Amino acid sequence: MLRITHLTLREIRLTLKEPFRISSGAAHERRVLLVELRDADGVVGWGECPAGETPHYSPETVDTAWLAIQRWIAPLVVGQRYDAPADLYPTLRGAIRGHHMARAAVEMAAWELTARARDVPLAQLLGGTRERVATGISLGIQARLDQLVSKAQQARQEGYRRIKLKIKPGADIACIEAVRQTLGSDAPLSVDANGAYAPSDTELLQQLDSFDLAMIEQPLAFDDLVRHAVLQRKLATPVCLDESITSPERAADMVILGSGKIINVKPARVGGFTAARAIHDFAAQHDIPVWCGGLLESGIGRAHNVALASLPNFQLPGDLSPSSRYWDRDIVRPEWTMDDGMVTVPWDKPGFGVEVDRERIEQLTVRSMSLP
Ligand code: MG
Repeated sequence: MLRITHLTLREIRLTLKEPFRISSGAAHERRVLLVELRDADGVVGWGECPAGETPHYSPETVDTAWLAIQRWIAPLVVGQRYDAPADLYPTLRGAIRGHHMARAAVEMAAWELTARARDVPLAQLLGGTRERVATGISLGIQARLDQLVSKAQQARQEGYRRIKLKIKPGADIACIEAVRQTLGSDAPLSVDANGAYAPSDTELLQQLDSFDLAMIEQPLAFDDLVRHAVLQRKLATPVCLDESITSPERAADMVILGSGKIINVKPARVGGFTAARAIHDFAAQHDIPVWCGGLLESGIGRAHNVALASLPNFQLPGDLSPSSRYWDRDIVRPEWTMDDGMVTVPWDKPGFGVEVDRERIEQLTVRSMSLP
């Protein structure tokens, strides 16, 4: 039984060590929304909403998520009883269209709270099995080719198990060619376009087949499964969908249409853990490998992602870089670290396995709201 009695929503600001640029824009500072749920016994669970400042990755933003949580989601869950955290997903989905990241922030906090209340690791509550999770790096678009090559080399030396390059028209073939040449033919390499290409770019995208990429992620528009299906038939490289998979139903659509062969599962994008697990299970039944993507989360969102990525069908390295890649100081203790390209799942601790640095969060808070 889960009875949520209090919800606190806050916004903190975290400065990125270096700006992160993708095809649709760059991030310099992260405005991070944190959700803190409390139950009748005073047990606390944390959630993070990784929506961007602008609607470039998804239609949601920090500000729309704040509004949705404050106005519609919080009043729906505070004071309610649930048999299990999985019950929040149908309730929230039934009442609220869209606003996946806003819903997920609360839903995932409810899972974390439940894990702490039952004194079990979140990974266990979710059905995880892996003790360590392989980690890949996502390299943003660089101003100069030599910068990209040296970052890729450095990432390889640091032990990352897969190197992903963000690409866009005009920053694609030459970048991939240079990195492939430098790293050698056996380095696991992939690319992510974040929807920057059009079906008219098919010939250009076919040229990528010669670089032996593990996948090309979301080449076409964020909401377009049909044209991805047409494109996949013309490419040897597996298409991985990220932005397009917003629910278990969209994952099923991908399989029916043949729009891709791999899924990047981000729990925030699909409305939380319940939907993420459903996608994981469905993909496993259809021999589709999945991996866990990142959205420049703080240590709290990363903790959720690490727990999810411990599930068995997360076969490919996730975007789970250590805290020190992004932040001078994270908001959790211990910070997330990587050893030989692997992140250790904290099976020895309850909840998501790291402690939230409440004092630091207080210092970084720019606004907050509590219910009741
Ligand atoms: Mg992506």
